[in-house]
Amino acid sequence: MSALQQVSIRPFSAEQVRADFPILHQDVNGHPLVYLDNAATTQKPQPVIDAIVDYYSRYNSNVHRGAHALADLATKKFEEARECVANAINSPTSSQLIWTRGTTEAINLVAHSWGKTSLSANDVILVSELEHHSNIVPWQLVADELGATVKAIPVSQSGAIDLESLATMLDKNVKLVAVNHISNALGTINPLEKIVPMCRDTGAKVLVDGAQGIAHFSVDVQALDCDFYAFSGHKVFGPTGIGALWAKQELLDSMQPYQGGGEMIETVSFSGTTFNSAPYKFEAGTPNIAGAIALAAAFAYLSQFDRVEMLAHEQDLLAYCVKRSAEIEGLQRIGREKNSAAIFSFGVDGTHPADIGVLLDQQGVAVRTGHHCAQPLMQRYNIPGTVRASFSIYNTRADVDCLFASLKKVLGFLR
Ligand code: PMP
Repeated sequence: MSALQQVSIRPFSAEQVRADFPILHQDVNGHPLVYLDNAATTQKPQPVIDAIVDYYSRYNSNVHRGAHALADLATKKFEEARECVANAINSPTSSQLIWTRGTTEAINLVAHSWGKTSLSANDVILVSELEHHSNIVPWQLVADELGATVKAIPVSQSGAIDLESLATMLDKNVKLVAVNHISNALGTINPLEKIVPMCRDTGAKVLVDGAQGIAHFSVDVQALDCDFYAFSGHKVFGPTGIGALWAKQELLDSMQPYQGGGEMIETVSFSGTTFNSAPYKFEAGTPNIAGAIALAAAFAYLSQFDRVEMLAHEQDLLAYCVKRSAEIEGLQRIGREKNSAAIFSFGVDGTHPADIGVLLDQQGVAVRTGHHCAQPLMQRYNIPGTVRASFSIYNTRADVDCLFASLKKVLGFLR
């Protein structure tokens, strides 16, 4: 299948999808791999792997301004990829999609390019206690430089952003509210349909960290009505080192460049340099060409299926996981919001998450343990970290069964 080819919808089947992901069919530590670390990164289907191989074996070349056939083809595929990914998130135009290395770079881009021109001393940036460090530290850096303040919106015991607190914190000094679509640590799906209008009322801009949202939802940036949406390709079956920032056109037009170099300029001279327009204004240097093309292949792959069916499958896995977890004495689920993506974070009384993770790995079960780059959230719950099983479209109930069978063995050893 060509990376950008339109494909017709076929019924979703996790078993069939599994067959498309070669890495899943191997033994790890003598056991069939059960991959439950999807919130950290997803595995890649064969068409994504093929798109990378195809690029490097057939038309590797630098993009834009080439005078030869390979450069023309690379440029065409690269810009088609932008269109494909922009379409996938329902962007009004493809020029509103800026390629970045991922979510982290996209947020740093906004902090640098928008923050430094739109924030000043005494301004406030609100982030929630649920945030990944990538959506906290860039704001702290820019706030320190400008004399602005970063404040945390509290979250409830069940892991929801406290909207009443948000309402009282929102005043004319708040210039930006930066929240994730889905919490990587707990799975909470944040009610953007409430948060965005609240911010509109007071004039604050909204940045959505979509690192996890993009993995589980068919994102529609126009329906969300956010100002910025940041995401990483590797969370949505694409390669590492590629991701994107989407932003409203008027913001992109008003923002300063992020980095200086090739492609982002219009003219350069020692008496002054003028800049290209978006998206190129924000894309200095040779981009990750193969990454962009392979990310488009990932979205093309996903477009074969009905996303509602995929989401229902993931929700079934989460519900089954919650049900099976009742069998484990002393298991505490961290984050219990009804509206959650298929991420199950937990601790077990009298054990350390890291020990559980290491021993699960011995059984071929791959989970992640620790603070999940959300230390303020762990402080909120007064815990060192959690064990996190995060599910994707290729996981099955059999994987959940393996998780709990292995967990029972592990706890028999630890307790
Ligand atoms: N935000 C969230 C919610 C995430 O889950 C992650 C990745 N764990 C990031 C930001 C950072 O993404 P990346 O490392 O791909 O830039």
